[in-house]
Amino acid sequence: MKLVYDALYGDHLRDLGHPESPDRVEVVAARLTQRGLAGDVRHPLDAADDEIERVHEPRYVELVKREIGDLSGPRYLSTGDVVVDARTLDVARRAAGGAIAAVEATVESGTPAFALVRPPGHHAESARGMGFCVFNNAAIAARAYQARAGGRVLLIDFDYHHGNGTQDVVGAGLSYVSTHASPAYPGTGYESTAIGDDALINIPLPASGIATEAFVAIWEHLLGSAAAFVRPDLIVASAGFDYVAGDPVGDLGVDVSAASALARAINRTAQQHCGGRVAYVLEGGYDIDALTESIAQLIDVTNRADTRENDASAQAIPAAQRELLRALDERFQR
Ligand SMILES: [Zn+2]
Repeated sequence: MKLVYDALYGDHLRDLGHPESPDRVEVVAARLTQRGLAGDVRHPLDAADDEIERVHEPRYVELVKREIGDLSGPRYLSTGDVVVDARTLDVARRAAGGAIAAVEATVESGTPAFALVRPPGHHAESARGMGFCVFNNAAIAARAYQARAGGRVLLIDFDYHHGNGTQDVVGAGLSYVSTHASPAYPGTGYESTAIGDDALINIPLPASGIATEAFVAIWEHLLGSAAAFVRPDLIVASAGFDYVAGDPVGDLGVDVSAASALARAINRTAQQHCGGRVAYVLEGGYDIDALTESIAQLIDVTNRADTRENDASAQAIPAAQRELLRALDERFQR
């Protein structure tokens, strides 16, 4: 599996003790290398202003530049809860570039690629950075694909948190499907609706947690339904692993083995609908051991081309979520 990584990703918030730490990529990359799972590393370019501005308003990009400008120490971005420092703009540009590079890699090869990037992106709205996120890497990559090839992108998000930033830019060929804890930060992600031919699908999950089998069964169902409706040319996955039990920021009580199951289902969906094209872009995941293990499993399943159907019964899905899925299937039939 092609891995997109750059040493620059460690330079944001170094030595600050913030949960969104350099270890999330530096330690993970080192361990993947030790395990022989980081064999094929692609180095990204920086995303240019015009690429970022397909998702973010120019006045927000200017605000980020102005506020980070010549910082001597860390501060909060004025738009929300994002700590930034003097290196953040350079790192965030290359994170968006990393997501774009993962899309390019999967388009070239017809096999999945993984962007091991930070800062994460899915909370960054068109005109507002928040939730540790500066630029919406996954959405920027989706728009870069569309700018080059046209077509439709299905952006799926299995992070513990709702991607309010991605929801903010849905439409014009970009569909979004999310599971997320609720009630939980950022407090969005309740409605599902069609926006023209595009789908916005939100499945809130109990913040008290959910059985691993149910989590997997929900995604097996969602991927099939959403892909049948959207008929994507590309899948981009906001890959956040803070759903894993024990995560210090998230924690849905889900076992680390879910990453294998998700990868099987997502890669299979990509094979069935869009020539195997799927770009995974790292979002959350704050327990370094669980994050490493999740990404290692995802890479291993991908390298073995393991796309078998997961043994996860729909009966395991809680009644409320089963009802949501049933209503979705009605609404999103073509
Ligand atoms: Zn998260």
